Amino acid sequence: MVLKEKIIRLATKFQDSDLEKSFPLDYCIPVYHAVSDVDVAHLKHIVQYKKVKDFESDLDELCRFFQFVTWSEFKDFHAGVFQPKKKIALLTFDDGLSEFYFNAVPVLLRKGIYAVNFINPKFNKNNELMFRGKASVILDMISGKKNIHPEIFKLLDISGISEKALKQKILKIPFEKQNLLDQIADLAEIDFEEYVKTQKPYMNLEQLRSVSRQGFGISNHGWDHPLYKDLTLEKQIENFQKGAQFLKENDFLTDSFAFPFTDFGVEKSFFDQLFQRDFFCTMGSAGIKLDSVTKNFQRIPMENGKSAQQTLKQETAYFNLKKMINRNQIYRR
Ligand SMILES: [Zn+2]
Repeated sequence: MVLKEKIIRLATKFQDSDLEKSFPLDYCIPVYHAVSDVDVAHLKHIVQYKKVKDFESDLDELCRFFQFVTWSEFKDFHAGVFQPKKKIALLTFDDGLSEFYFNAVPVLLRKGIYAVNFINPKFNKNNELMFRGKASVILDMISGKKNIHPEIFKLLDISGISEKALKQKILKIPFEKQNLLDQIADLAEIDFEEYVKTQKPYMNLEQLRSVSRQGFGISNHGWDHPLYKDLTLEKQIENFQKGAQFLKENDFLTDSFAFPFTDFGVEKSFFDQLFQRDFFCTMGSAGIKLDSVTKNFQRIPMENGKSAQQTLKQETAYFNLKKMINRNQIYRR
């Protein structure tokens, strides 16, 4: 275990379990991707998604400490015109996956809990898999295979034929080099076109409209899920804008944006451009953290194999530790 984890674990032991009191911010924004009881090849190697019953327990735990709010209540709260009875929680999902439609929405409707899903509009036609999904499918298909094509190792500059080294390398392929994933798939005889046609990983337009009609939010997660810090400012705006256009055309939410992967390393100039117009907020996924861009809200990743209560307790302990050394806020140049 690395030192950081040891320290967090120790600090968590002394953390008060009454999260209603001890949670350090007046809002809590959990983020999920999917909920499923079955193996999903394009997710299982990149997201530790929860089973339906574990997702439900998360919601029940969160309800004990927080009051779930809708998008407009969340906005009103930040405008100072909504007075909640407890600290508030806004439930969010990323990537517009069909597991949201089929597995999460029925639970949320039953419990009367609102959620917003940040989507990459490029994929709603199910013509293509997002590159991280491709990596997961490849890992799934090559797992335990005796005869992995030697060209794949060459392509990735791996000496030897270790399956573990190969998997690690595949998972690290960045957005800019996603062509490599297509080349590996060809060599491994994986047909991504066939895969998306049969699996339909993403909510299509009709499903997006349906969840929106049922009161849920659909918002922008960038056109095709690049890592924003690796893009120039111009490309960041272009990628944001292309996603925003789709949301506008379909009457979804246009006042917000959640960064694909992370907002780490994204400079103030990007936020300045967004907030020039009538725009409410952006969201990152750095856990409980403050941000010098005050309308960039940090969310708490929940897909880590732990219960919601355990995650929030740990996050709170970590936040308090960082506070002691003034590291609980992100400063942007
Ligand atoms: Zn994402």
